[in-house]
Order: sequence, then C-alpha cells, then structure tokens
Amino acid sequence: MSSIATPPVSPSRHRLKLSALITLVLAMALVTLGSLWLVQEQARQLALPTLHNELWQAYQIDNEMNHLLDAAHSLRKGELDSDDLVVRIQVLRSLTQSLERHHLFDFLPESQSITQGTLDQIIGLSRDWDARARWGDPQGVRQLAEEIHQRLPQLLKPMHEVMVASKISLANKIDAKRQLLHRCFIGLGWTLLGLLLGGALLVSRLVSDYRKARTLSHNLAELNQHLEQRVSERTAELSEGQALLRQILDASPSDVALISDDGKQVHFVNQRLRQRLELDASSDFSLSRLFSNAREALHFSEALQARQRLDGWETQLAGAEPYWGVVSGRVLEYHGRPALLIWSYDISLRKQMEQELLVLATTDALTGLNNRHAFLQRAGELFKSAERFDQPCTLLMLDIDHFKAINDNHGHQSGDEVLARLGELLRQVLREVDIIGRLGGEEFAALLTQTDRYDALQVAERLRLSAEALVLNGADGQHLSITLSIGLAERRPAEPLEGVLARADSALYRAKAEGRNRTAQSVD
Ligand code: GH3
Ligand code: MG
Ligand code: MG
Repeated sequence: MSSIATPPVSPSRHRLKLSALITLVLAMALVTLGSLWLVQEQARQLALPTLHNELWQAYQIDNEMNHLLDAAHSLRKGELDSDDLVVRIQVLRSLTQSLERHHLFDFLPESQSITQGTLDQIIGLSRDWDARARWGDPQGVRQLAEEIHQRLPQLLKPMHEVMVASKISLANKIDAKRQLLHRCFIGLGWTLLGLLLGGALLVSRLVSDYRKARTLSHNLAELNQHLEQRVSERTAELSEGQALLRQILDASPSDVALISDDGKQVHFVNQRLRQRLELDASSDFSLSRLFSNAREALHFSEALQARQRLDGWETQLAGAEPYWGVVSGRVLEYHGRPALLIWSYDISLRKQMEQELLVLATTDALTGLNNRHAFLQRAGELFKSAERFDQPCTLLMLDIDHFKAINDNHGHQSGDEVLARLGELLRQVLREVDIIGRLGGEEFAALLTQTDRYDALQVAERLRLSAEALVLNGADGQHLSITLSIGLAERRPAEPLEGVLARADSALYRAKAEGRNRTAQSVD
C-alpha cells in the first residue's frame, strides 16, 4: 500500500515563509522601478539643453562686455551714435538680469566668493549704466562711454575667470549627476540581482511545493483508488457472503428467523418457515405465530433475553398442522440493535417414535395392558397421590386357576387367546381411572382408585363372575372356561406399594389354598 509523505514543515510556517518571500520580491520590484525612474530622470536632466543655459549667458555677457567696450571706443572717436551705445548697454543689462538668481557656482565651493563678487559687480554696473542710459541724450551717453572705457577693461579678465569657474562648476555638476547615475546603476544592478535571486528562490520554492503537492495528490489518489477497490471488494464479498448465507439458510432443514428483540421488526425468515407458516410476507412472522401457545411464545422470548441463549426447547409449534418442534435461540446484535435468532426443527417423527417406544416399553403385547414395570410405576404414582389426598385405593391380584391345564389341553395359542380375552374383560369391567396390568404369565393386577375394600370386593366378585361366565373357544374348536382367584388388599396409611402388593399376594395365595375361584381379603 502506498504511503503519504509528511510535509517537512508545518503548513502555517510554510505559508509565512512564502508570504515573506513574495513580499521581498515585490519590494525589490518596487525598488527596481524606483531606481529605473531615477536613472531615467537623471539621464533626462543630463540631456536637457537648458543645462548649459547659464554658462551660455556668461559667455554672452563676456562677449557683450567686449562689444560694449568697442562701442564706447567708437563713440569717443565719433564713429558711433549715442543711441547705439544705449542699445548695447540695454543688451548687457538684459543678459545680467537673467543671472541675478543663478546656480553657476553651486558645484564650485572654493572660488565661489571671488567669482560671485565679480559677477555681482558686473550686474551692479550694468544695472547702473542701464538706468542712466537715455535715448537722445548724447551728452549723458558720452559720459557713460567714458566711464565704460575706464572701468570695463578691468573687469574683462575677472569675467573670463567667471566663465572658467562656470565651466568647472558645470563640469562638476555633470560629474556629480553622472556619479549619481552610476550609483543608481550599481544599486539597480544589485537590486535586479536580488530580485533575480529572490524570484529564482520563489520559483524553486513554488516548483518544489507544486511537486510535493502533486506527489501528495498522486499518493492520495492512489490511496483513494486502493480504498475504493478494497471497499468494492469487501462489498462484493459481503453481498456474496450474504447471498450465500441466505441460500444456506433457505436450504437449511431448520426453520430460521431473525427478529428484533421487541419482535416488532422481522429481519429474516427462511423459505422453509415461510412455507410452513403459510406467510404471505416475512414481515407477517411473529413468535406467537410460531408457537401454538401465545403465552409460551412470550415465556420463550423472556427466557431467551434473560439467558442470551436457549437450546432444546421442546414444544408444540403452529403450522398449517400443529407439530412437535424443538426451538433454539440466540441474542445477537444486528445493525447495532439486539436481535433474536430463532431456529426450530420438526421432531414430530421422533416424538411419534418415542411414543411408540414408550408404548412398547410399557405395554404387554398380548393383552394391551400395562406390563409389570409400567404397572408398578403408575401404581406407585397413584399411590403417592392417594397418600397426599388421603384417599382409599385397593389392589386386586388376579390369577387364572389351573391355567397350565388349558395350555396343556388346548395348546399354547388357546392359552394366549384366553389371556387376551381376560385382558379385554378387565378393561370392560374396570374404570378408566383404574390401573390394570399383566404382572407375568397368567397373573394380573388392578389398582382401584378411590375405592375401599368393601367396594373393591364387589368389583372383584363381579370380575370373577364375569370371567367364569366367559364363553371361550380353544384353537382345537372345543369350548373352554376359566375361573379366577383374587387377592384383595386396601392401602393402609403410609404403607408403600410393595407392602400392599405383598398382602394382596398373600390373600391370593389364600384364595388358591381355600379352593380357588374366589376372592380373599388381606387379613394382616
Ligand atoms: P394354579 O391354579 O395354581 O394357578 O395353577 P396354574 O396352572 O394356573 O399355575 P402354574 O404356575 O402351575 O402354571 C402357569 C402356567 O401358565 C405355566 C405356563 O406355561 C403358563 N403360561 C405362562 N405364561 C403364558 C403365556 O404367555 N401364554 C400361555 N399360553 N401360557 C403361559
Ligand atoms: Mg394360575
Ligand atoms: Mg400363576
């Protein structure tokens, strides 16, 4: 069976790591974008044509100062009109005006004060001359030309220095911007490298996670498939097993039923039992339909639930025809609830055979009366009952007189016939409640219930006379007759059967001795 690989870290830690990685990559991407913007901005500024504006103006001023000086010379020589000088002064002024707020020396800290002073001086002079230069004022302009002639030459060299300083400052400025650009590039490079590494790490992490997830899902799918297969196999096995079990139970020679412990639900009734009880549906089954006696059904159910198992409960069961059955039961669990499994089988045949055996074992075959053993047993029981209820009962011992002679004269078969007819006679004369038996040979006994010796004497005499009156034909076709000698003894309180038997036997012996064909009472 496949196994699921366990993740090396907990899912929450793993998520935290992944979030941190994504944040890092995002931050790096932002920094990269920022750096790119900065580089682009720096490059744009370096490319701007205005970068050289101020330097250009400084050149212009220097140039214009030379022009103004030339113009002043020309005016003094009378070669130039005063208004032309005014124009030159105004041009210079317009140039110096734009440099009143400048950044020429921002990148030149050391010589800033000297050069700034020169520039301030030129700006101040141009402002002053511009203010004094008037159109159509040759006198005034001439004075200005004199002043220009005196002062301007001294300023040409410093102005030249201003230009040089401006150039250096501009070069410094460009250099600073270039260095910044360089730093930006380096920063951008590192950032991009970090971004690349972070991205690679993130991608490798994602790929490894994806692989793990794929392995896990693959394992899970395999496991699921395996489980599904197992479940379907087990289901098939179970349904096959159930079908087989039903087949076995239906084919079983026993009657089988499975019901809930309260008897309200019928889970199963096999075919044999359904047929026997003529049920339309299994749900019609109940214990009271199985047992002939509804009270016994209840008793069985209670006993089964108390003992959990019952075996060999022999009883009359109800079917199309009532029959003898033996019932067994078990308390089981079915679908999580207690259930009663009951099975029974027909023992009618066995019962019948038992009955026949009992009859054979207790009946004298010739006369159909109790044999000696059965007589003694039943007489013993009746004796106990008579003792318990203090009721009289009397025992008669009967013996055919000279029976041997019948055998001898008419044959053994005739003797048997005589014995059988005497048995019949005893049954006819005596009551059903009396117990009659053949004790052996031609000796019979009868125990008369609820009969004292006086009544018994009358019965004995009636018997004796009836026997004497019997008309019998021997096997040889000759008539024959019998007489009986009877001994009579009434039960005494607490006397056992053996005692009464012995006394009746003594009385019989006396009847024989006194001449036979008579009844003698026990006199002990
Ligand atoms: P008593 O008057 O003294 O009783 O004389 P008895 O001949 O009747 O008595 P005894 O004991 O001398 O003879 C009994 C005879 O009964 C002997 C025996 O052959 C015969 N006998 C015993 N059992 C059977 C039987 O089942 N069938 C037949 N036919 N004869 C039997
Ligand atoms: Mg006899
Ligand atoms: Mg005898």
